[in-house]
Amino acid sequence: MRARLRKRLNKIKSLSATDLSASAIVFSPHQDDETLGCGGTIIRKREAGAEVRIVFMTDGSRSHDRFIPEKKLIALRRQEAVKAAECLGLRPENVWFLDFRDGELADRQTIAIERVRQLLLDHQPQQVFIPYVREAHPDHLATNEIVFGALASHPQEVAIYEYPVWYWHHFPWTANWGDRASQIAYLKASIKAKLGWQAVQEFDYRVDIESIRSQKQLALSQHHTQMERLVDSPDWGLLKDVADGEWLECFFQSQEIFRRTIIATRK
Ligand SMILES: [Zn+2]
Repeated sequence: MRARLRKRLNKIKSLSATDLSASAIVFSPHQDDETLGCGGTIIRKREAGAEVRIVFMTDGSRSHDRFIPEKKLIALRRQEAVKAAECLGLRPENVWFLDFRDGELADRQTIAIERVRQLLLDHQPQQVFIPYVREAHPDHLATNEIVFGALASHPQEVAIYEYPVWYWHHFPWTANWGDRASQIAYLKASIKAKLGWQAVQEFDYRVDIESIRSQKQLALSQHHTQMERLVDSPDWGLLKDVADGEWLECFFQSQEIFRRTIIATRK
């Protein structure tokens, strides 16, 4: 079934040369989502001469706060994000941090909408990239809602591209490698969330990343806190631990996929 779904991804329409060269702001809930969800697309857009900026919504302070003091973790993840963005072709001045507390973005929606609204007015991007609306993670969903909220009063036409991250953490893309009971629970949750066949129909644009996959890998490897155990403990969570590595593989398929919505110009 997974092979059939992957084949279907190859049939999605490609972003045109004009779309690749259009200016964009990528809104990323945490320091790594930008590379996972659209790192290849950012590289291709930069190659096409597009102006691209990345906005990190939260401070990333909760990923490993059991092991590293929050302040230190925030500083580390900030450095990693700037290095990763450089690998994607961005200058550090085009990487911004809104620093809302990790895990609590949904509680700050009103102020976040105002800040994003101002950024959009100041920079007038032709495109924005945001997490897919049906992402289960609360910061991902909040990022989606905040950007849509900010665009409600935006005067210019903008193309919104929703990118999947936690979407891939569902059957059939990934299996659950736990005991039988947790495998059945995973399967049931995936069916209930309708994130297999049904969701794949919603993604209508793709960017081929085959030729620049190693560059995307290099960018991701800059997120050391997410890719390496900095403390010798099996409890230090890594991206490659999720679904026994199958989830991480989903970001290195031949293409990145998006759901596009155009918000028309307001007179
Ligand atoms: Zn995230």
